[in-house]
Amino acid sequence: MTQRRPATEPATTADVYQPRPGEQSRPAPRIRLARPDMGPEEADAAARVLASGVLTNGPETAAFEREFAAAHEVDHAVAVANGTVALAAMYLALGIGPGDEVIVPSLTFISTATSVLHVGATPVFADVDPRTFNLDPADVVARLNARTRAIVPVHYAGQPADMDDLRSIADDAGLALLEDAAEAHGARYRGRPVGGLGRAAMFSFTPTKNITTGEGGMITTDDGDLARDLRLLRNHGQSAQYHHDTLGWNWRLTEVQAAIGRCQVAKLPAILARKRANAEILGRRLATIDGITPPHVCDDRDHVHMLYSTLIDAGRDQLMATLTDQGIENRLYFPPAHRQAVFVDSPVDLPVTDHLADHLLSLPFHSLLTGAELDDIATAVADHLSQA
Ligand SMILES: *Cc1c(COP(=O)(O)O)cnc(C)c1O
Repeated sequence: MTQRRPATEPATTADVYQPRPGEQSRPAPRIRLARPDMGPEEADAAARVLASGVLTNGPETAAFEREFAAAHEVDHAVAVANGTVALAAMYLALGIGPGDEVIVPSLTFISTATSVLHVGATPVFADVDPRTFNLDPADVVARLNARTRAIVPVHYAGQPADMDDLRSIADDAGLALLEDAAEAHGARYRGRPVGGLGRAAMFSFTPTKNITTGEGGMITTDDGDLARDLRLLRNHGQSAQYHHDTLGWNWRLTEVQAAIGRCQVAKLPAILARKRANAEILGRRLATIDGITPPHVCDDRDHVHMLYSTLIDAGRDQLMATLTDQGIENRLYFPPAHRQAVFVDSPVDLPVTDHLADHLLSLPFHSLLTGAELDDIATAVADHLSQA
């Protein structure tokens, strides 16, 4: 007899709500920012790996890498433990270290910048475009100097950065152009998928991303030598068992995560199609409301909307409080990195980023949102702003 599965909702991180220190405990939000699309396929895949006895360094990791590379039209993909070490691995494989500078946006998750510190190099912040929130090529040029070794655009919220402009800047100055594609699985720039638009790219699979393995990361490249070096870095510098050619780390992904990742890559087109349709619906609704600007999508790119970041003309914090009171989770993605305690010793002038820090608001936008929930979000925003 085959075992029947109960028709319950999949357990997700959305079921666990932990108030911050000092915050009053309250019920979990009705509408969460992020919710992974996990189902019986992932459970079966994980069970298959556990029964196999091969828990790391095995065929699931190799298949996950092949399938992820194919989906992004690149020659090589190297799976690692998370997106942060994927960033550090790219820098190390390119020989970036002490004395070198790497240009990154400040409007990003902290590890785009802290990963540069992890390898002993110095992150240099550049400003972003006020409409797309992506790295501003003109400001990148202003931050170049003899120590600059790489430019790392983030495809903010899942919309590819201005890669052609950035590539010509990098080529002229003899620098590596890398992609922080942590938020942009499956996004396209002028018809080409992210992941193959520079020397190398990295992705993350934390639970807020469009696809997840719990924790996990991937590096993609068309450069076979670089891919080989990345594999050595990931696995103790081993070219063969107990032959340690170079200094390496243990940055491996487990086979259970890789098996789940394969299911998620297979689901990616459907997840992105749902998000694209929902972005259309929510964007049309929000465009009728005064005081909020929905995400700007450039004609020549496919935005995958890992985040749905809007601009609020005035009173952003009050709107956030109203939405939170109504059980609609919301957040500033991201408090700028250059204002974090880890970086405040090196003040830097980033007027657009500083402005956005007071006006950006990300609304819930996971792939399982219903039409009623989208309506609920738009109505709550409209009601608040019409009274503000
Ligand atoms: C999520 C994210 C990362 C970090 O990935 P982890 O897997 O959490 O280490 C890096 N950069 C950006 C832009 C991200 O959104």
